[in-house]
Amino acid sequence: MTTSQNAVPAQKGGAEQGFHAAGAAQASGTATSSAATAAAIAGAAASATPSALQVAKLRHPLKARMLRVRRVARVTPHMLRITLGGDELAGFVSASFDDHVKLFFPHEAGAVPVLPVLGERGPEFPAGQPKPQTRDYTPRRYDADARELDIDFVLHGEGTAASWAARAQVGDYLGVAGPRGSFVIPQEFDWHLLIGDETALPAIARRVAELPAGKRVLAVVETASPNARLAFDTRADLHMHWVHGGAPAADGIGPLERVVRRLVLPEGEGYVWAAGESLAIRAVREYLVRERGLHKSRIRAASYWRRDGGPGHEVMED
Ligand SMILES: Cc1cc2nc3c(=O)[nH]c(=O)nc-3n(C[C@H](O)[C@H](O)[C@H](O)COP(=O)(O)OP(=O)(O)OC[C@H]3O[C@@H](n4cnc5c(N)ncnc54)[C@H](O)[C@@H]3O)c2cc1C
Repeated sequence: MTTSQNAVPAQKGGAEQGFHAAGAAQASGTATSSAATAAAIAGAAASATPSALQVAKLRHPLKARMLRVRRVARVTPHMLRITLGGDELAGFVSASFDDHVKLFFPHEAGAVPVLPVLGERGPEFPAGQPKPQTRDYTPRRYDADARELDIDFVLHGEGTAASWAARAQVGDYLGVAGPRGSFVIPQEFDWHLLIGDETALPAIARRVAELPAGKRVLAVVETASPNARLAFDTRADLHMHWVHGGAPAADGIGPLERVVRRLVLPEGEGYVWAAGESLAIRAVREYLVRERGLHKSRIRAASYWRRDGGPGHEVMED
């Protein structure tokens, strides 16, 4: 395992030896550009948050969209950015970096995926057709004018989503539903700690691009190798810790947790967001809550995938 530094954050801004490629140049884009989204957040803040430091849970009308691949760009050797487009993106809303969309994959390359029909009884699939494979992904950037949505795919090997992305061609179809809701973490906290592996990088990159100038942010990101680092575009006061490794050491502590254990957290009110492999994120959350005394209301921790191949998405709340 290697880390870019020790306990006290030192590296400022983006990747020390980061991979600067075509995709990374777009990293400043956010998925919250529409006026509707801004109004939704402002409305929620006005009506549902007695204090500026209260999270807001928003609901959005659920819609399934059939989109087509417009561009494929390599962000790092481990990540592809697929730009999806289409008029059906009209009205798309993503109010938080924590959002996810559900992707519906075709049964074979180039085919048109089966989409659910959203009726009063919820999503229903047409009779007689096999249900499509679905996976959850982060809306990395949305451009309402161009009707474009970027999704960044980790190329982890064989898997419905990773394999589809690795072979995606301009013109291919992909179904996209959601986001169904948004968990909006106020930017007003004194500091933010963002923790995750490569699957959380799209959300973390989006968050640091959206946070205001000078906001204190610590980020701890585990990647398979140094060349999977991203160059972040941010105005925030970002202190970055990259870690490369994988399995826990003999003492049972994994690479992410080991770095988090050495962090000196800033003074003031902070919020921790963590996502990635289920066991690694659970261990980090347990440590922060039990040993560092972080209140459970100040951490949002989610499983994005499981090494044992089990069902991926789970927000940890116990
Ligand atoms: C809310 C949410 C947002 C997410 N956002 C993103 C995103 O923006 N970009 C992104 O790349 N992923 C994201 N993920 C993670 C992604 O959904 C999972 O990695 C998913 O399992 C990939 O599907 P697949 O079909 O490629 O592999 P699967 O068919 O699900 O799994 C096949 C095998 O690969 C393993 N595997 C799955 N993912 C990984 C991985 N990342 N590294 C190593 N092994 C893996 C599994 O354990 C399994 O053995 C997100 C997940 C959630 C829940």
